[in-house]
Amino acid sequence: MSAGSAIEWTESTWNPLTGCTKVSPGCKHCYAERMAHRLQAMGQPNYSNGFKLTLHEHALTAPLNWKKPQMIFVNSMSDLFHKDVPVEFIHRVFAIMRQATWHTFQVLTKRSERLLSLNIDIDWPPNVWMGVSVEQSDYTFRIDHLRYTNALVKFLSLEPLLGPLRNLDLSEIHWAIVGGESGPKARPLDPNWVIDIRDQCQEANVPFFFKQWGGVRKKKTGRILDGRTWDEMPILLDLEPKEWHRQPEQPEKVLFEHPNIPLPIL
Ligand code: SF4
Repeated sequence: MSAGSAIEWTESTWNPLTGCTKVSPGCKHCYAERMAHRLQAMGQPNYSNGFKLTLHEHALTAPLNWKKPQMIFVNSMSDLFHKDVPVEFIHRVFAIMRQATWHTFQVLTKRSERLLSLNIDIDWPPNVWMGVSVEQSDYTFRIDHLRYTNALVKFLSLEPLLGPLRNLDLSEIHWAIVGGESGPKARPLDPNWVIDIRDQCQEANVPFFFKQWGGVRKKKTGRILDGRTWDEMPILLDLEPKEWHRQPEQPEKVLFEHPNIPLPIL
């Protein structure tokens, strides 16, 4: 059975590694860190090292055993491109994603420099959506790094949004998620920052997903913006696979008719 997720924009999580170190202001109140310590205290074997970076060989093949096709967030409790993750291990994670053709994998990193440096050696499977996190304007270079990669679907997680992100270059970006910080000591989110990004996405024809206002009680603040929820996603096309090999018994949902054709967007 897969690990179901409460995260609004995915269905399951897969953590072949856990633990991380902080790289930018968005990490300050890292949810993964809080959870890792909690799970360690509960005696969960995968978290015996707390939040120290740890590879979990035994978890590598897990998605191959999940028969139901699903959207899987890779490493919700770590960062696949952390400097201490061996290159071979990263390639093994990609090999499993390539093999598990019936799933869609969402990989998110703040280490866009390492992502870009490894890009050329990655055999990018069409069922992998690659994303970068950007929390404030001095980290928009991560979007450029992402754009230079050969990932077929590229997305942004603008969360926890800590400042305005004006004049974003959204070319070749297929999806943007925005959210405020939640939990104890959550930093405030200015609605004008969200509205401005929503408008930029609409202008650039990029699907926009508003995850949450956040705050100390995120259930109370909810996720309504301008009287509605914003749950736009990249469109999945029901197409016959061509170059991409899918298991015949699996649904024929693919993102591209051909990897060279850009993703149709909302
Ligand atoms: S990169 Fe992500 S997992 Fe790592 S410390 Fe920062 S917020 Fe936490």
